Order: sequence, then structure tokens, then C-alpha cells
Amino acid sequence: MFKKILIANRGEIACRVIKTARRMGIAAVAVYSDADRDALHVTMADEAIAIGAAPASESYLVIERIVDACRKSGAEAVHPGYGFLSENSAFAKALSDAGLVFIGPPTGAIETMGDKIESKTFAGRADVSTVPGHMGIIADADEAVKIAGDIGYPVMIKASAGGGGKGMRIAWNDGQAREGFQLAGSEARSSFGDDRIFIEKFIENPRHIEIQVLADGHGNVVHLFERECSIQRRNQKVIEEAPSPFLDEKTRAAMGAQAVALAKAVGYQSAGTVEFIVDKARNFYFLEMNTRLQVEHPVTELITGIDLVEQMIRVAAGEPLQISQDDLAIEGWAVESRVYAEDPYRNFLPSIGRLTRYRPPAEGPDDAGAVVRNDTGVYEGAEISRFYDPMIAKLCTHAPTRAEAISAMSDALDGFLVGGIRHNIPFLSALMAHPRWQSGDLTTAFIDEEYPDGFSGAEAGAEELAILALIAAAAGLVERDRLDRLSGRLRPHSGAMAKDWVVGLDAQMLPLRLVAGQVGVPFEAELQLAGGGIRAVRSNWRPGNPLWQGTIDSRPVTAQLSNQGHRLVVSRRGVERSGRLLTPRIAEIDVLMPVKEPPDMSRYLLCPMPGLVVSIAVSEGESVEAGQALATVEAMKMENVLRAERNCVVENVNVSAGDSLSVDEVIMEFQ
Ligand code: ADP
Ligand code: ADP
Ligand code: MG
Repeated sequence: MFKKILIANRGEIACRVIKTARRMGIAAVAVYSDADRDALHVTMADEAIAIGAAPASESYLVIERIVDACRKSGAEAVHPGYGFLSENSAFAKALSDAGLVFIGPPTGAIETMGDKIESKTFAGRADVSTVPGHMGIIADADEAVKIAGDIGYPVMIKASAGGGGKGMRIAWNDGQAREGFQLAGSEARSSFGDDRIFIEKFIENPRHIEIQVLADGHGNVVHLFERECSIQRRNQKVIEEAPSPFLDEKTRAAMGAQAVALAKAVGYQSAGTVEFIVDKARNFYFLEMNTRLQVEHPVTELITGIDLVEQMIRVAAGEPLQISQDDLAIEGWAVESRVYAEDPYRNFLPSIGRLTRYRPPAEGPDDAGAVVRNDTGVYEGAEISRFYDPMIAKLCTHAPTRAEAISAMSDALDGFLVGGIRHNIPFLSALMAHPRWQSGDLTTAFIDEEYPDGFSGAEAGAEELAILALIAAAAGLVERDRLDRLSGRLRPHSGAMAKDWVVGLDAQMLPLRLVAGQVGVPFEAELQLAGGGIRAVRSNWRPGNPLWQGTIDSRPVTAQLSNQGHRLVVSRRGVERSGRLLTPRIAEIDVLMPVKEPPDMSRYLLCPMPGLVVSIAVSEGESVEAGQALATVEAMKMENVLRAERNCVVENVNVSAGDSLSVDEVIMEFQ
């Protein structure tokens, strides 16, 4: 076994690999860019080596720097994680030329599977069912239109070198096929330096289900069942689970057998994933093989009890697999949520900056016996940098049933505190509460179908709103009680709490009665909202705590609280309301108060996130139409086009290409 390995990656996956190395008694070497000097993976590793400037192309992607770092540290093998150099066969070759071991598959397998055209042709020959289509390179738009017509619309136009959801276009007719060919080609050229395009049938409303395989250098190959990753946004996974609620034993066995056959045919070693799309009739079609550890591998680890990173290291060291297919069984259900630094209320724009608060839910078994696992690469005070992927954490839960795993995920998300930047936890919470997700009726179009106009908070049922009102009331009463005590001398009436109150929840005024009990820490009281029953509310919450944990009618409840002026913003299950506790008299007067109109900002184009101005598309005095592109701002490797919300005339432009902007900086003004 190796004594020392190097991890050629950063963030949560570097931390994840270090954990297993440590458990196996192997020393771990981290590498880091200038932007990552204080990153968690650097602190966690036994030693760390600087490899260059912040842009990945000057550090994490420079093969010679990684090889040098191995020489310097004496590491014998390299785990590449995912992304970066993980599927780069030149990297695997460079390591072996330097006498180092690549903890991954042989270069031949990376090359064959790394190219979508080649891998589909290869899979077809190995009797794996592939998406019907044309397996050749398409020369020009005319040929694209002809082939699309032959396959039959709708079709998917894809870049052979594509990855990460890039270089893909759906076409429903000749016009779109022509345009899609051009767009996919230019996107692929700029992202992958390779514009070879092919066309396959677009499978309508499919599910994305993939098989995890594990192979050694002695001819043993097993599969570790499936993961379903149908909850996607822009062809990128958001929620994953294992097993899939859709597969029956027969389909599972057939998909597993094909994945194993493909791995054998390509001489695979190490952990890999064979991705399929599955139609309504459970016909499945090979999409591609990812020749690396997958982002969502933890759900497989949770249902099988196998540490995939450990297996990759053992295989790379030449050990034969100690697991046979018969040893493997699915135990329980696991769900993963990808927690991203992106603003779900602003079309998922990336959000960067310092994590002024980062308190994940406790790991290990929770109150109900479900297991919580949180893979992360950050800590409170760390920075989410604009140079890399904006993932904050991968939150997983594991329980005996799917419903319990989902319920545990909802609880864990409610208790996950992230501050200082915007994040997608409200969106993940809303997904968990969505009846269609809960029923398992999924397709890759789920998010587009269920949130056609974007996300504006989860729908709140009557009970959910009652819970928010009760928490706002309980917290408000505790604050009121403390205030009365602190200022006891000034307030001779302190002592017995008044019984009648009004909870303001956004603009709603809900009369509330403190029926009986004790207000303070602990809070143990019976509360009654007008029109509702008497509810027993208990909590040890103290003013200032951003987390309210307690029980309502003996059921555990968690919510997040934040102070905004005189209001207490309460959020849970993807629903957010601003709450106030008022006396009936104040509530009466309050409704007479003029509502402060927010200033009209529609005259300004504001920068929605910190970023770099790539280009300005209009000039002063120009008339623009709703939907027209105004400016492009780059943040976190993504170009975001800002568009006009209405027809208007540009009065002046305040910034120019190359400027660095902060949030809400005025880019231009309209007349
Ligand atoms: P998974 O199927 O494991 O979710 P993804 O396709 O989402 O994998 O990609 C995994 C990681 O690799 C992500 O961090 C993504 O940003 C990165 N990635 C994927 N394809 C590429 C690529 N061609 N170049 C660089 N990074 C990529
Ligand atoms: P990437 O390399 O970017 O991961 P994939 O080929 O794995 O590309 O496809 C990513 C996603 O795009 C799939 O999970 C699926 O949602 C969608 N997709 C890809 N090909 C098709 C197709 N032929 N029909 C329908 N959806 C597809
Ligand atoms: Mg894929």
C-alpha cells in the first residue's frame, strides 16, 4: 500500500479523499492555488504545496506543477477527484512517465470513454443499448438538418467533447437544428477547443439513472447499483438519490449487467459511472461513461456501506477487489442535496464572498435515527471564490425508507445555517417539500415544469404558515419577556404576560392567545391562533440565536430566525415570512400606517452579483426592447447576460468592459 498520496484537487472532494487516506494510514499531500492558501483542504492535509495563481489554468490544471509537487513531497500516487485533470489522459500518462500511480482508470479507457462519439460507438459494439442517432461527425448545418430529419424530431445536438452540461442543444425543427448546430459547435469550441458535433434522438421526459461500477486490475468488475439524478437544472444535477424509485429488479439487473459488460470491454479499472437515460416504458439508453469518482458518489456509499475512495486507492495499489457482486446489497435510501452559493430568487446567479456564518447540521444519526453526512470544503469565515465551482457542501441523509430520508433532509436543511452570501437552501427545501418529488414521479424536465417562471419561495400550506406564526409568536414573547425584565424598573407593569396578541406575518394579521404556560427559557406554553386549536409549543431558544429548535405538539420543529429591524424573519421548508408580535392596540394602529414604497429602481440596471464586465451591448441614447441583451458579466466562470426588463432608452452607461463590480453597482441608467 502507498505511504503517501497527493490530491490534485480542492474543495469538498479534496477533503473527502484526505479523510479516507487518513483512515487507511496514508499521508495526504494537498496542493493549492494562491486563492486557496487558507482553504480547508490545505489545513486538513499532512502537508500542502503551492502550485500557482488562482485561475485553475495556472494551478490545478497545470500537469507539470502536480508532477513537481509529487517529487517534492515524495507522494507515490495521485487522486484527481472530479473535474480539473480527472479525465485527462495526458495527465495520467505524465504521472506514469514520472513513475507515479494515477488513482483512476487506465489511459486507454479514459480516451475511449472521454469522447462521446467514440464511447457510443464502442458501447454499441459491446451490446449496450445506446440512444438512437447518427454516430458520425457532422460537417455543416445542411448535413445537420438532413440527419436530424432522418432521425426524426426532436433531436439532441451534442458536442463529442462535451461535459458539465455544455455544448448541447435540443431541436424540434429544421430551423432549430441549423441554429443548434452552430450554437453547440461554438460553445464546444470555446469550452473544449473541439467543435465535433453529432446528433441523437432527444428522449422526451426521460429520467437520468446511472450505474456505479468498480473494477480491479485482475479482471473483477462489480456494480454498486444505481443513482437517480433526474432533478437537474440546465442539464446539471441538483438532487441525487440511491436507489431509484423507478427501477424494478429486472431493469436494475439489466442495467447493471450492461454497465459491467461495458467496463469489461473497455478494460476499466477503478471506480466509474455508466450514465443512462430511461424512458417511461423503462427502456434505457447509454449516455456516457464518467471515468472518475462522481460528485454524487456519497449516496452509493451510504446504501452499500462501501468507501469508494478506499476501493480506488486499493485498486491503484494493485490489490484485487475483496467484494463480489453477491456481497452487495442495497440498504435503505440515501438522498443528496448540492448546496450552492447561488441565489435561487435571482435566477440562480452565483454569489461569492465571505461565509460570515457556516454551521451545518450535526453529522451522524439524528433524532429519528436517520444518518446525516455533510461533505464540504469550507468553514465559517472562509471565502467562496469567483475562480471555482460555487459548491458549498453536499448534504446527504440515509434512512430505512425514501420518505424518511427525505424528511431527514428537510430537517437537516432547516438547520443548515449559511450567511454572508446567497445560497440555494430555500430552493432545496422547497424541492424536498414538493409533492411530485415526494411521490417519485420524476423526469429531467422536473424543475422546468414545476418552476417555469423561476423560484420565488415554496408554496406554503395552512399548517406551514401556522407553524411559522407560532414560532414568530414564541420568539416574540421570549424577546418581550426579556425586555420587560431588563427594563423592570422602567416598566412597572412587568410580571404577568398579557394574554392577547397579534402576530403580523408579512401583511397578514393573526390574532393569537397565550392560553397558559411559561414564557422564557425554556418556553413551555400553549398558544392558540384565531380559528385554530390549542398548540403546545416548547423551545430553549434564546434571543439572538439564529436557529429556533423546539417542538410543536411534541413534534420536533426547526426554523431559522434573523432580525431585520423590528421584524424577525422566520424561514423553514423553503418558506420565508417576516414576523412581528404586536399588542392588539398596536396592530389596530399598524394597519393605518402608510406603507413605505420601495424606491423605484427600474430606471437602473444593477449588477446582480460581484463580477467582471465582459462587454456592454448598448450605447448611450440607444432604444432597447424588453429582453434585449444589455451587458455581460462574468462571475465564477459563467457568463451572465443581463437583459432589459422593458422597452426603454439608455441614458448613460457607467461602466465599461474589464471593470470589476460589486453587487447592486449601477451599470447603466435609463430615461
Ligand atoms: P457529475 O456527473 O459527477 O455530477 P458533472 O458533469 O456535473 O459530474 O461534473 C463534475 C465536475 O466536473 C463539476 O465540478 C464540473 O464543474 C466539472 N466538469 C465537468 N465537465 C467538465 C469539463 N469538461 N471541464 C472542466 N470541468 C468539468
Ligand atoms: P454531460 O457530459 O454534460 O454530463 P450527458 O450526455 O451526460 O452530458 O447529458 C447530460 C444531461 O442532458 C442528461 O442527464 C440528460 O438530462 C440530458 N440529455 C442528454 N442527452 C439526452 C437525450 N438524447 N435526450 C434527452 N435528454 C438528454
Ligand atoms: Mg453526464
